[in-house]
Amino acid sequence: LDYHPTGRHFLQIPGPSPVPDRILRAMSLPTIDHRGPEFGALGLRVLKGIQQIFQTRHPVAIYPASGTGAWEAALANVLSPGDHVLMYETGHFATLWNKMATRLGVKTEFLGLPGVEGWRRGVQAHLIEERLRADKEHSIKAVCVVHNETSTGATSNILAVRRAIDAARHPALLLVDSISGLASAEYKHDEWGVDVTVSGSQKGLMLPPGISFNALSPKALEASRTARLPKSFWAWDEIVEMNKTGYWPYTPNTNLLYGLAEACDMLLDPAFGGLQGVFARHQRWAEGVRAAVRAWGLEIQVTETATQSPVLTGVVMPEGVDADAVRKLIYERFDLSLGTGLGKVKGRMFRIGHLGDCNDLTLMAALSGCEMGLKLSGVKLAGSGVAAAMEYFAGHPAPVALQK
Ligand code: PLP
Repeated sequence: LDYHPTGRHFLQIPGPSPVPDRILRAMSLPTIDHRGPEFGALGLRVLKGIQQIFQTRHPVAIYPASGTGAWEAALANVLSPGDHVLMYETGHFATLWNKMATRLGVKTEFLGLPGVEGWRRGVQAHLIEERLRADKEHSIKAVCVVHNETSTGATSNILAVRRAIDAARHPALLLVDSISGLASAEYKHDEWGVDVTVSGSQKGLMLPPGISFNALSPKALEASRTARLPKSFWAWDEIVEMNKTGYWPYTPNTNLLYGLAEACDMLLDPAFGGLQGVFARHQRWAEGVRAAVRAWGLEIQVTETATQSPVLTGVVMPEGVDADAVRKLIYERFDLSLGTGLGKVKGRMFRIGHLGDCNDLTLMAALSGCEMGLKLSGVKLAGSGVAAAMEYFAGHPAPVALQK
């Protein structure tokens, strides 16, 4: 598995994203004593770095778990059995989070548009506002939305959700999944008034899977003191307390924290435009990939242009073409992994990831693999997406240097 006689595998799924060599090298250092003096310095460094990535001054809990663990942590810390929670259906991941909340014993209400309509757009904040206005007795304790819906490629306007809650003068907490948005799409935990932001390591942070995050607000911390869902491993209180000196109540994922320290240095490096540079690079890559899909004459899953994700693009197949058969052919012939369609859009579309450790030429290679595979699968293309993307990238120089 670690040797490809034909060069590097193209991991073009929307996470896990390719891990840069610089991060792999950082993670190869020996594991140290997690109670020793050196570790505290590492802990404080990553906790400070990750606050900058979330754009928060408040605590960020880091868990040795995948994103799903951090989803559970967010719910378990602020809710009590039977609490009423308003969730919004943007796609498969919103659906899974909703299912988890039900399994944890809270009462969920799943708002959204019928059929796959909601899977082609972002969160419709006015629907949340209407629902909250109708909740006169304030029985809804939290509103949960997915910032970047990885199953469709919709990046929702989180500030609009905050404003909807405020306009309804409703006290519900705002919980946001930015597992695949953080460190790729603009995200401002404090400024947007988010109470808990959930994220993971294997997307924009360019790390392997294995650590995940809850960024907190003072209101979320307050709620966690009286919330009654069972919590122990996920409980914020002991983590936040021990984090003050750079330690954790249990054994943290030391080598992934070496990687996180390196990732924060790379993402925040002013020489490459800092976080604004990261967001601008992703927007540009997405525009180049969308230019290719348009030139092929194929539909993009998300129809609202303002909501089309800088992280991934969902490519809809013409009627009668199985997207998974196209993906399989591309994988077998060109050693390129694309994202599968999930849930309601299985077989209807595939996903091209354009996040993290990419550049114009790696994306051009991925688009070439897609174009060859589409043709070999018998899909009728209107024109060359590869030519359109080359034109876009050549004609729109990167606003900041692309090298990391
Ligand atoms: N939420 C979103 C938006 C995701 O993209 C994912 C994973 O792809 C998850 C949640 C689940 O995270 P994990 O697979 O790391 O548990």
